Amino acid sequence: MACEPQMDPGPLPTPAPGWGALPGVGPAWGQELHNGQVLTVLRTDNTCTPISFDLGAAEEQLQTWGVQVPADQYRSLAESALLEPQVRRYIIYNSRPMRLAFAVVFYVVVWANIYSTSQMFALGNHWVGVLLVTLAAVTLTLTLVLIFERHQRKANTNTDLRLAAANRALLRHRVLLGVTDSVEGCRSVIQLWFVYFDLENCVQFLSDHIQEMKTNQESLLRSRLSQLCVVMETGVSPVATETAEGPESLEEAPLLPSSPRPQERPLMQNELHQLVPEAEPEEMARQLLAVFGGYYIRLLVTSQLPPAVGTRHTDSPRTPCPCQLIEAHILGTGCCPFLAR
Ligand SMILES: [Zn+2]
Repeated sequence: MACEPQMDPGPLPTPAPGWGALPGVGPAWGQELHNGQVLTVLRTDNTCTPISFDLGAAEEQLQTWGVQVPADQYRSLAESALLEPQVRRYIIYNSRPMRLAFAVVFYVVVWANIYSTSQMFALGNHWVGVLLVTLAAVTLTLTLVLIFERHQRKANTNTDLRLAAANRALLRHRVLLGVTDSVEGCRSVIQLWFVYFDLENCVQFLSDHIQEMKTNQESLLRSRLSQLCVVMETGVSPVATETAEGPESLEEAPLLPSSPRPQERPLMQNELHQLVPEAEPEEMARQLLAVFGGYYIRLLVTSQLPPAVGTRHTDSPRTPCPCQLIEAHILGTGCCPFLAR
């Protein structure tokens, strides 16, 4: 089995209606880049060990578009974000075929449970009874599938938001990263998308918007930002812990001496880490775009962005730009920019 990381050789899919897709033969010199234009896609087989992205190939491909992004500036950030074993397992278990398999199992279990329950009430084996049982099981399964699909449209902490540090490094190069996955045969494939985006206009808009919220809607802003947290596991120094306990905690100490802690197991604790801390509006705007850049790119390349009425900083009239998505879905202050879907 070939486990070499690959760069997508064929024509790239058009991310959304109205967007220019890459020609299959490569970029044309002098061609103007548009916001949302896919520059290249790296693909790597998630079932191989170890795996890596061929970021050198991506660097060369970006150079042909006139975009200079040294791979060393984001290599460790991207690979540590996506290629850790637990993240790779999550991508496999969260893939569409796995969700479909879970839905099938759910349907069978629900059908069997409802049918056996109906037998207790002596509904018999009449075909109407079986039909009702089937309809109930189908309805519950479809509800589950819709919940799955809705969940896929939300920012994924395990993949999208892990690209925040890499996207923060790439903002000034006008490139955003996003990650998707697919299944080819029996292989799980991770796709790393490089998309052109000049975010200066988005930064300016969000900066002004945050400044306005700080003046007029500070409680709403604080409430929204307080929800943007992730739990991080951090190490604790045993010396610091013992010192902090002090003589005041003697009354609460156990009567029997505790067993000695194994030296090889470090003490860990969970801490809430705020993704967008309080800062100057421009700094907060850049951080918001870095944190949700991966989320935006995933929705863009999978055509899941909510259609917008009018656009700000993109060429497509129905495709929102990142600041529109953040304003409406993260800060919750957009005034009807999206069509209901
Ligand atoms: Zn924008």
